[in-house]
Amino acid sequence: MKSQPRVLIVEDEPAIAELIAVNLRHNGFQPIWAEEGVAAQRELDAVLPDVILLDWMLPGQSGVALARKWRADARTKSIPILMLTARGDEPDKVAGLDAGADDYITKPFSTQELLARIRAVLRRRAPEQIGVSVTIGALVLDPATYRVTYQGQPLKVGPTEFKLLNYLMTHCERVHSRGQLLDKVWGDHVFIEERTVDVHVKRLREALGAAGAMVETVRGAGYRLTAQPQVATQD
Ligand code: CA
Repeated sequence: MKSQPRVLIVEDEPAIAELIAVNLRHNGFQPIWAEEGVAAQRELDAVLPDVILLDWMLPGQSGVALARKWRADARTKSIPILMLTARGDEPDKVAGLDAGADDYITKPFSTQELLARIRAVLRRRAPEQIGVSVTIGALVLDPATYRVTYQGQPLKVGPTEFKLLNYLMTHCERVHSRGQLLDKVWGDHVFIEERTVDVHVKRLREALGAAGAMVETVRGAGYRLTAQPQVATQD
C-alpha cells in the first residue's frame, strides 16, 4: 500500500514516452503521459504529480518555456522538474537549469540512470516518498512493508493515519499547519475542511497508544511530531 509517486511525462515521441512509462510502472511509480504543454497543463490542473519529466523539444511551447511557466506558478513551483535533452546540447542544459529545472538527463539514457535521477530529486524534495524506514525515538515506520512499531511492538494504523505519520516523521520537530498537512498528505486538489486533519490526528494518537504524545498540538499553529514530547504538567 506504499503510495506510488506520480510522474508526469511531457514527451511528444510516443515510443520514448511509452518506454519511460513502462519502466516507471515496473519500479513503483505512477506515470502519466502528456504529448505537449497544453495536455500537460490539463494534467497539472487536475492532480499535481510528484515529479515532471520534461522534454526539451516539444510541439508548441518548448520544455524551457514550460519549466519557466510552472516555476512562476505558486501551485506548481515546488514540483521537481527533470529536463530531457539531446546529447551534447550543453547550452540547452544551462538554459534548462536557468529556467528552473532541478536536473537534466541526456537522451539516450538508461533506465537505471533515469530512476536514480528521479529518486534523487524526490529525496531532495520529499523524503516521505522514498520508501526507506524512518525512526524517531522508539517509533519506527517502514513504508516498504507498511508497518509501524513502537518499542518493537507492531501498531495498527489506518491508511490516512499512516500517510500522515509518514509525513510527520520525515519532517519531524517542525510545526505544520492544518493547511500544509492537507496539501502534503491529502494532496492539494482535494477540497477537505481543515478540521478533517484534527480527526485524523486524533485517530493517529489513539493508534499510537503510548507514543501518541509524540504528536503535539501547537496551539494556534498546527501539529508537530517530536522525539521528546512535553510532559503535561498539573497546575
Ligand atoms: Ca521531443
